[in-house]
Amino acid sequence: MNEYGLYIDGQWTAATSGRTFQSISPTSGEILATFAEGDGNDVEKAVQAAAKARKEWRCFPAPKRGEILLEAATNMRKRKKELGEMVSREMGKVISEGKGDVQEAIGFLEYIAGEGRRMFGQTTPSELPGKFCMTVRQPVGIVGLITPWNFPFAVPCWKPGAALMGGNTVIYKPASLVPLCAATLVTILEEAGLPPGVLNVVTGPAGRVGRAIVENPAVEAVSFTGSVSSGKDVYARAAAQIKRVGHELGGKNPQIVMDDADLSLAIEGVLFGAFGTAGQRCTATSRLILHEVIFDEMIERLVAGTKALKIGDPLDPAIDIGPVGSEDQEKKILDYIDIGKNEGAELIAGGHKLTESPHDKGFFIESTIFAARHGMRITTEEIFGPVHAVIKVIDYDEAIRVANDVEYGLSSAIYTNNLRLAHRAVDDLEAGIVYINPPTIGAEVHLPFGGIKNTGNGTREAGSTAIEEFTEIKTVFIDYSGKLQKAQIRD
Ligand code: NAP
Repeated sequence: MNEYGLYIDGQWTAATSGRTFQSISPTSGEILATFAEGDGNDVEKAVQAAAKARKEWRCFPAPKRGEILLEAATNMRKRKKELGEMVSREMGKVISEGKGDVQEAIGFLEYIAGEGRRMFGQTTPSELPGKFCMTVRQPVGIVGLITPWNFPFAVPCWKPGAALMGGNTVIYKPASLVPLCAATLVTILEEAGLPPGVLNVVTGPAGRVGRAIVENPAVEAVSFTGSVSSGKDVYARAAAQIKRVGHELGGKNPQIVMDDADLSLAIEGVLFGAFGTAGQRCTATSRLILHEVIFDEMIERLVAGTKALKIGDPLDPAIDIGPVGSEDQEKKILDYIDIGKNEGAELIAGGHKLTESPHDKGFFIESTIFAARHGMRITTEEIFGPVHAVIKVIDYDEAIRVANDVEYGLSSAIYTNNLRLAHRAVDDLEAGIVYINPPTIGAEVHLPFGGIKNTGNGTREAGSTAIEEFTEIKTVFIDYSGKLQKAQIRD
């Protein structure tokens, strides 16, 4: 069995405390590997390594930084099948999605590598003669990155990819459920030529490692992806040091289906959006908002489609849905199923844990649908599992009102063939992402990704905006007139 230390200053080292923890398959309970369990002392060592490497990495030409990331992407492409299987084994998403996770990581690294030859600033005329004005992008410094477990390669490439490209040195804490994927990513970046100390990885629990990263005064910015409640804690602690924070938090994403929509397309979309990755995507379609005219037909087809989904070993290509991520996840999801029943929502599909062989060793829950009323907890709170709520509305205006009446604002979708309604929905849906006729999942790496309301605080990952989170703008004035010129001082 593999054992991994912390990755600090280019070395794999034991935790100061000597403690370890294990990564366990949610499918079979098999122990996949053992990891060092860091704490604040290890975070401090990682910060010192990042501080030592900072100057050299900052001066490393950006196109050369891009070459390292591109080399890592190329190596990941060669190993895509193996890495996809690792995702399925450690996190539980089915193999097609495991490989998709790796593909998203590759795509982003390839995209951001090109940023090394862009990193655009601006030039602009001065209001004075013989004077030149421009802006340049500079690294923030030492940044802390904290990621969730549901995208074990994609999100861990989005953050370090952009942070490293920006010239920052990094302290990275992966989610405790998926340290094997994180450790593997480190070896890939190391083999691609990343110098020691530039990326330091401290595995271990949120309360000891995550908080120590956020609170360490030398860490100048934190980029966090996770739940709203954890995000609030991170934000509050970082605020005490006026620290820059990028947030990508939870969602309660609606799919509206209007009476003129292509219903077959809408059914196919919602089945993938709601139950792909066992509903454990920030962008999962967790609410289906149906026009009353098509409600009965949609329910009938949705229930039939849901019951046909095959749940089981995520490495089996015939399987549609794998296990949920952990025992805690399973408990939270089953609790929400009870909440839905107690609120009076009608359970129309699923609703149970699967306990018989071959599901008896893992965390398998039936794909579950409730016919619900807007306002019930299962229609407003993020469940993050294969539990989906369907809501009936009378028209477009009510659909938009229901879609927007939640604290989240990540992704949203409307199925309609009415061009006017489609454009209105782009204006009206309160979300960082709007889909017209696909489900709420399917982001592409060259476009900005992020949410509004409690889902985010204005940063956007991926796309041309990714670099903004990890760079400072410096404004430069060059006066070549040979005399003191005073801006604004004139009649
Ligand atoms: P989580 O419990 O909030 O944890 C996320 C990460 O933060 C983990 O590494 C966790 O460490 C760490 N952490 C938790 N509390 C912390 C704190 N107070 N201070 C510092 N670090 C802390 O979320 P999760 O269960 O891993 O992931 C699911 C959530 O992420 C969902 O809400 C989902 O919607 C959201 N998500 C959002 C996006 C997006 O882009 N908007 C993408 C993916 C997922 P441990 O693992 O050690 O507990």
